[in-house]
Amino acid sequence: MTVIAYDLTGRTALVTGAAGGIGRASAVLLAEAGATVHCADLDGAGARRTAERINESGGSARARALDVADRAQVAAAVAAVRAGGGRLDIMANIAGIMHSSPVLETADSDLDRVLAVNFKGVLYGCQEAARAMIEQGGGGSIVTMASGAIDTGAPGLLCYGVAKAAVVQLTKTLATEVGRHGIRVNAVAPGWIRTPMTERGSEEEQRRVEEPMARRAPLGRVGEPADVAHAVLHLASDASSFTTGQILRPNGGVAMPW
Ligand code: NAD
Repeated sequence: MTVIAYDLTGRTALVTGAAGGIGRASAVLLAEAGATVHCADLDGAGARRTAERINESGGSARARALDVADRAQVAAAVAAVRAGGGRLDIMANIAGIMHSSPVLETADSDLDRVLAVNFKGVLYGCQEAARAMIEQGGGGSIVTMASGAIDTGAPGLLCYGVAKAAVVQLTKTLATEVGRHGIRVNAVAPGWIRTPMTERGSEEEQRRVEEPMARRAPLGRVGEPADVAHAVLHLASDASSFTTGQILRPNGGVAMPW
């Protein structure tokens, strides 16, 4: 049984990036907590697989293909959740892309693409969700996905880190503006999590990258998608009812090491 504050029965969530590691785990966990989950991803087939898994295990989910970098598509996704008088209670902006290039080799096009997905994609999600939540009378939780990259410089992570730092600023700013409507806005800033984004070519290469991080982490390991999904559930649910404008860091005790 879900502890009452974590019970999402009767709530509806829109989760972007729901085909992938953290987004998929979050969609599944929110559904297990009782929410109806709209799974959205650029990879529409992957979003459908996540929704199928939820529905097959007794939950309630729908899927749609969505490019978060396209404002009209984000608006349409929010409108679809609310079609027929439905509410949007939880918006989890999890979709994102990785990009690595040294500062001196970073092209305008690199920066533009990473900002379009990792920052503007979250901005559109926040704007459309907050408007919908205000229109339906207030209340709701918006979760954004930052990264340990906000806490440190790391070689190659200029575009990614800039976009994630901007997500944090968006989160804090929006929280100050919509709190009076009972809408909370919080960010999750995970450390290294084992997902398709952090997959390396071979097991040996994976170990070579992960072992030093695990050694440096007080908890002695890198993260799994479920570690972050639980942070998303916490911020999405009433368990965090007095929390807004905050950054939750599921990172094993360290900012992202490199
Ligand atoms: P992932 O690659 O497994 O999942 C990302 C998902 O986003 C994919 O399903 C992908 O199809 C989707 N996506 C990409 N571009 C999109 C777009 N334009 N519109 C809609 N969907 C799009 O990666 P992940 O590790 O699960 O990452 C999820 C989020 O967590 C990202 O925002 C990432 O930056 C963040 N994050 C990941 C880690 C990590 O170590 N894995 C650490 C910190 C933060």
